[in-house]
Amino acid sequence: MKMASLGEFGFIDLVRARAHGPRGLLSKGIGDDAAVIDCPPAGKQLLWTVDMLVEGIHFDLSYTPARLLGRKSLSVNLSDIAAMGGEPVACLVSVGFTKQTDVDFAKDLMGGFLEVAGAHSCPLAGGDTVSAPQIVIDVTVLGVAPAGEAYLRSTARPGELIMVTGPLGDSAAGLEALKRGLGREDSWKTLVSAHLDPVPRLREAAAARSAGGVRSMMDISDGLANEVNHIARESSAGAVIWADRIPLSSASMELCAEAGLSALDLALYGGEDYELVFTAEARDAQRIAEAIRDATGTMVAVVGEVVDAGKGVKISAGGRESDLLPLAYDHFRARGE
Ligand code: ADP
Ligand code: MG
Repeated sequence: MKMASLGEFGFIDLVRARAHGPRGLLSKGIGDDAAVIDCPPAGKQLLWTVDMLVEGIHFDLSYTPARLLGRKSLSVNLSDIAAMGGEPVACLVSVGFTKQTDVDFAKDLMGGFLEVAGAHSCPLAGGDTVSAPQIVIDVTVLGVAPAGEAYLRSTARPGELIMVTGPLGDSAAGLEALKRGLGREDSWKTLVSAHLDPVPRLREAAAARSAGGVRSMMDISDGLANEVNHIARESSAGAVIWADRIPLSSASMELCAEAGLSALDLALYGGEDYELVFTAEARDAQRIAEAIRDATGTMVAVVGEVVDAGKGVKISAGGRESDLLPLAYDHFRARGE
């Protein structure tokens, strides 16, 4: 059946039947003119984020299953809540389907979305459903963080170490595997899954908060090079990244060796890892890393340090320092080729 036959209200009924009921701060979800949310308790602040995915720009349906697209559309928003050191409260989703979109596709997409909503206690509070020339998914997430203690990009100070959850570059390597038609090969399974089904690092951020000592944080959506430049600019600081400390997976290195790519370039300039980059004083770094590893099993690496603004943003490799430019995924191929 096509969406044109099911119609907007038929679809909303399907979503409503499968969505979780009100819970936590959400007191009225799908079904009225607006959702109703309790004010966060004293001592908390609201986090509020939105991300939009457009067919042909952010995803390619030739290798993106509907269910994983639904999962990713919420996961990338939850990654922003994690990066602020917060917890999710509830989400909204606006979807545009074409008249020709299969109802099964729309159902699978919302099924994937609701799996992630359930896994991270982020109930779906409502949304909008429209007909569009291509598929669009626009997700809003509300979260909470301790008042005055949301993790910002602007609070890094010279002398702090720069740390990441990792490995980095797997998502870009997975995209390369998909584009080369290698997506079904077992060897690249973890890479493809890093690209199509990233896990928002909410538990890792919560473990870091419990450990204490995080000074600044953001998520890595556009490559480490880009994000370190963001932290440096927002914090009026500089940074040095140590190339040989960047965590790369063996799968990414193998794929890159076969495909003539640089795994380090994918880690620096590839997109959509949705890992965390954060800073902490040296005396706190080890403790935070261990807390994250113990609570989640996710690896954590020290990859550089915050320095004075005058030094700029550098990468140090083989004893030489060069500028680390905020190149994003689209541009990294041009480097040195
Ligand atoms: P309105 O006309 O007030 O915008 P709608 O008819 O668009 O209301 O939506 C009816 C209810 O269904 C609202 O609670 C809305 O939040 C919810 N809703 C609509 N589309 C979706 C969707 N894709 N996912 C979840 N809830 C939705
Ligand atoms: Mg509406």
